[in-house]
Amino acid sequence: MEYRHAMTQPIIQWREPSLAETDPEIAELVAKEARYEHDTVRLIPSENYASRAVLEAAGSVFTNKYSEGYPRKRYYEGQQQVDQVEEIAAARMAKLFGAEHANVQPYSGSPANLAVYLAFAKPGETIMGLALPSGGHLTHGWNVSITGMFFKSVAYNVRKDNHLIDYDQARELAKEHRPKLIFCGATAYSRIIDFQAFRSIADEVGAILAADIAHIAGLVAGGAHPSPVGIADVITTTTHKTLRGPRGGMILCKKEHAKAIDKAVFPGLQGGPHNHTTAAIAVAAHEAAQPAFKTYAHKIVENAKALAAGLSELGYSLVTGGTDNHLILIDLTNKNIPGKIAAKALDRAGIVANYNTVPFDPRKPFDPSGLRLGTPSVTSRGMGTAEMKRIAGWMDQVIQKHDDEALITRTAREVADMCKDFPAPGIPI
Ligand SMILES: *Cc1c(COP(=O)(O)O)cnc(C)c1O
Repeated sequence: MEYRHAMTQPIIQWREPSLAETDPEIAELVAKEARYEHDTVRLIPSENYASRAVLEAAGSVFTNKYSEGYPRKRYYEGQQQVDQVEEIAAARMAKLFGAEHANVQPYSGSPANLAVYLAFAKPGETIMGLALPSGGHLTHGWNVSITGMFFKSVAYNVRKDNHLIDYDQARELAKEHRPKLIFCGATAYSRIIDFQAFRSIADEVGAILAADIAHIAGLVAGGAHPSPVGIADVITTTTHKTLRGPRGGMILCKKEHAKAIDKAVFPGLQGGPHNHTTAAIAVAAHEAAQPAFKTYAHKIVENAKALAAGLSELGYSLVTGGTDNHLILIDLTNKNIPGKIAAKALDRAGIVANYNTVPFDPRKPFDPSGLRLGTPSVTSRGMGTAEMKRIAGWMDQVIQKHDDEALITRTAREVADMCKDFPAPGIPI
């Protein structure tokens, strides 16, 4: 089957060679990737399928434009369309989340977080975030990240007994270290985040509270996870995870912080915004404002709970015992198989997940005990709880018999067969 990007089906006749004609090597890899994304069950919780409309906007001529500055305050002429695109994108996102201000220029989630540091803390000052091994993000002050090198970083953890965020420890550490900035939010945490608890901690020590909802933005927009809007001072997110937009970043904040945030993004941190991405962010905001997106967000959680229940019944040990969101973290210790071997066998069987540390993991990050799964992508294809049961069954077989290549090949065929019934957004068939 031949993959053709929407942009290669023009309304008018092209006068120049296509990607396939210009660069068959890359064209073939694009086609293979489309096939791969179509024929596999994709369970990486940070991934999704962007719609055809989002891909079209992201692949548009807005990639050609430079527009340093903000709408109607640019350093370049020729912004007739670009200004409108950015104003629409920011207004739609602010409305979607009920926020007072939206900056849609950050290149991705990490630069969005860096802009928050730049706006509210000076190098060497103290900041706080969830430790990476507890499910926090690198950019929340972990030592290998610039955020852990340029700032004095204090990390709170999840509790040893139930692996839930240790709000008591966060409060004690905040009182002891008086951080300028507190990050909450996670990249490998399967439970609801209590933004109000962090608000009261931040208030006690006079800190700015930043909620990083990169993973759960789509759930928040769809009402399937409580919103930090009106609670946190500033909210950062990616636009490409559960939100199903293009690869990008965004910052939402109260009016009082709008100037500081905008200045930090440009000229503080970045040059020209990625206008093609901004156009696609506008499209994603429009899609996420439809009633169907609410249903989608709730189905992600329903599917995650079904997949978690299926795995639990098969004897898998889930960190925190289950999930409230889109994500599942399995501790494979009781199955006597490291996460990496499991993830690689599953990939050969057409089930794509990533190995991950579990809290207090005795093994190394590059060879950890856990497997991280999520349901945003499979839910975007319209799969439901019945498919989650099947996936749990396949996963169990492959994990138990991870060197049985005949079984793995058979499973990959069964997986691809099921995928045929669930069209993947953005991928023509
Ligand atoms: C994914 C993620 C980011 C970083 O996003 P990139 O777009 O990969 O830079 C930041 N914070 C959290 C919590 C994330 O999950």
